[in-house]
Amino acid sequence: MSTFFQSTIQSLACELFNSYDSYKASGISSSRFTQAEMLQWLHLFKDQRLFGKSVLGTSAEGREIALYSIGDGSTKVMLWSQMHGDEPTATMALMDIFSFFTKNPEHIATKTIREKLTLLVIPMLNPDGAERFTRRTAQMIDMNRDALALMTPEAKILKNTRDTYQPEYGFNLHDQEPRYTVGTTQKITAVALLAPAADESRGDNPVRLRAKRVASTLAQVLNLFIPENLAKWDDTFYSTAFGDNIQKWGTSTVLIESGGWRGDPDKFFIRKLNCIGLLATLYAIAAGEISKVDVAMYEQIPFNMKLGYDYIIRNAVLKSNGQIAPIRVDVGINFNKRINTVTGQMDDYAIIMEIGDLSAFTSLEKEVNANGAELNADLIKLEHSFSAGEIELLFKRM
Ligand SMILES: [Zn+2]
Repeated sequence: MSTFFQSTIQSLACELFNSYDSYKASGISSSRFTQAEMLQWLHLFKDQRLFGKSVLGTSAEGREIALYSIGDGSTKVMLWSQMHGDEPTATMALMDIFSFFTKNPEHIATKTIREKLTLLVIPMLNPDGAERFTRRTAQMIDMNRDALALMTPEAKILKNTRDTYQPEYGFNLHDQEPRYTVGTTQKITAVALLAPAADESRGDNPVRLRAKRVASTLAQVLNLFIPENLAKWDDTFYSTAFGDNIQKWGTSTVLIESGGWRGDPDKFFIRKLNCIGLLATLYAIAAGEISKVDVAMYEQIPFNMKLGYDYIIRNAVLKSNGQIAPIRVDVGINFNKRINTVTGQMDDYAIIMEIGDLSAFTSLEKEVNANGAELNADLIKLEHSFSAGEIELLFKRM
């Protein structure tokens, strides 16, 4: 760890962490929001001395997609969020970052970033998906598999913006399912990073190496706050994905995936981590420190694994019928939402994901030790779904 990191980045990150409530974007009470709500928050920061806005185009359903620029430095950094409509965490963090700059124009971080960098920010690339809180665009396309074909107007906008400005750095901001874990540690992944490969060989060209230095900086910042909850995606090359291609096109790109945190369904803590991690890393880029960063910190991050369920029943007895022997089992259950076709509302439901030995798994929401209590064999079936309020029916009534 460099002395610059210890003396400057670390203290900045701690200051940003401790003073977060004083500058975070106000008015965000839920992680479910539409573009109209986001535009209201952005309107509060409408200070032309800080931000420039240019309309890039419109989504399939005609919603405006805009670029917000901050600073006039020679190094360009592009940040884009919510290409998947149901992945809002980083969009909230971008609002926090705008709010920080607005409320702290004289802060050393604000001044250095504005002087040395030009930030090119596209919050909410998929406003149609955000309207319905779905991953895909209104044309049913996963935008992150449309980097080459460019079938969708939203993908064209992202590609055109990258090509127009040719930024040196990029941040590709997503959410992942909250049930991923940090390797086999049974710790829930709060944030997962990736400096994507630029081709099938997954080698380190100068562009990717610089991305790894950025990811390493971000990892050092996040390790101050979540030393056990940071993971890394494997670097399989996805030939049609944006992160991989933007790396290939020459912009050093880091993927940030917001994961899960116990007791925080809106992911407000992970939003805070995104905000602080990005601000501190942008400051390191602005200060010209990235080329000195050791990539070891990034390479050492454990891989993201999916060893979590929302709810785990441990140590129960399952007696399938009178003829075969009963066994001791654990049961892994997830809670999801689906549209009720009668009411049109979103209903919560639970689904049994796994039955067996779940000793390697951890739970995101809760777990019970059944202490040998017998399960209701009529209900314990793989993929069986039931209303979230019916959990107690899983146990056989005595
Ligand atoms: Zn995503």
